Amino acid sequence: MKVLKFGGTSVGSPERIRNVAELITARGRNIVVLSAMAGTTNTLVEIGEYLYKHNINGAKEIINELERNYRRVVAVLFSDVDFRMEADGEVDAVFSLLRSLARDSFTEFEEKEILAQGELLSTKLMHLYLLQQGVHSAFLPALEFMKTDKNGEADMDFITEHLTALLDEYPDADLYITQGYICRNAYGATDNLRRGGSDLTASILGAAINAKEIEIWTDIDGMHNNDPRYVENTSPVAELHFDEAAELAYFGAKILHPTCVLPAKVNNIPVRLLNTMEPEAHGTLIYNTETAHTIKAVAAKDDIIAIKIKSSRMMLASSFMHRVFEIFDNYNRPIDMIATSEVGVSITIDNPLKLEHIVDELKEIGTVSIDRDMVIICVVGDLDWHNRGYEAAAIDALRDIPVRMISYGGSNNNISFLVSKEDKIPALRALQKHLFSNCQPSNP
Ligand code: ADP
Ligand code: ASP
Ligand code: MG
Repeated sequence: MKVLKFGGTSVGSPERIRNVAELITARGRNIVVLSAMAGTTNTLVEIGEYLYKHNINGAKEIINELERNYRRVVAVLFSDVDFRMEADGEVDAVFSLLRSLARDSFTEFEEKEILAQGELLSTKLMHLYLLQQGVHSAFLPALEFMKTDKNGEADMDFITEHLTALLDEYPDADLYITQGYICRNAYGATDNLRRGGSDLTASILGAAINAKEIEIWTDIDGMHNNDPRYVENTSPVAELHFDEAAELAYFGAKILHPTCVLPAKVNNIPVRLLNTMEPEAHGTLIYNTETAHTIKAVAAKDDIIAIKIKSSRMMLASSFMHRVFEIFDNYNRPIDMIATSEVGVSITIDNPLKLEHIVDELKEIGTVSIDRDMVIICVVGDLDWHNRGYEAAAIDALRDIPVRMISYGGSNNNISFLVSKEDKIPALRALQKHLFSNCQPSNP
């Protein structure tokens, strides 16, 4: 059995839902994970923002508009009167819940309930459409098995046990439909795996059932060698090692959720990135491949804060470092990049939460300066230190760009550069030109 995940654009209109229905029916008995229809989660986020500001009428207007869209989808998808009534009933239930949550006392609890409705809508509509087409679809409510623990990590034992039991209830199903993104937290409340989290759902479910493969179906033919939103003439990468894909996802390649590679990697389950609009295209295969002698791809991670701490020399170098890391650790702030010198250290973080407190404590041990609006540009491929010329090629490509930090050697497949926001696109384009236009450095 495989896990097939379809993103928002792939189920973004009645036509696309029909296409995906055909595609999944042809592929046999698999678990199909769906995102919300494109735009829906953004709209649900917006509804939450209005409610936090106590603008209940504003929220209700958006709810009404969203409901009109779903009524149109139902009218196009369902030719059979009984199924149309049933689908309208599901839409009724979701929108009356949304209206009941549009109230003055609005907290994170209500917000999470609202955010969960997008995936519930898309999966209910797909499930009913498949039934209308005579496909024996089984509906798996993710809130019955997707659970995180107190650290916000997937509770794999719970998930495996409850998912397996649920699958066993439908021995004759042609396929299974479930929601990406949504889960319950350790306390049983509705929660989610953060934006883009349906990829992570797919990977976790793949691990839970020890799937043959995890397929991530989206609107592009695989992981491209650079960000196609900013760079022209990018091309799909045929194969990536799990570690390379994880680096690219973590450092900004939007096609994959930052942490979704890990469950697949741990269980050695291949992940294939495929294009719903072009199902025959090869896409990208992510597995345990050897990747000698090529630079594979470039990605960029925005909104980075660089903090430089210059030691006041009152401390020994080792205790200075210890104290710096301790402060970041106490605030639970993961560090992305690090560069050291005899007198100080530069560190990057991707979240400004509690920054003032962190800086206050750092000031006790040294002089602190901060650069905001920075971007990490990450070059991924075979960057084993024994190779010659690969780091040089990346650095050479950026010769006209001011670089604030460089990090290399943390892994065999990544070199990262910190540049300012204005230089992000020129840096991505320069790397494209120098690394992927037939001038790859050759290994001696
Ligand atoms: P989905 O809704 O299917 O999850 P996403 O929008 O999350 O799709 O991811 C697909 C998008 O990721 C593509 O349309 C593309 O614009 C963007 N993207 C960014 N970097 C890359 C990359 N290196 N390769 C492919 N797509 C990328
Ligand atoms: N619907 C959610 C989002 O838009 C999850 C996902 O699409 O992966 O972020
Ligand atoms: Mg996505």
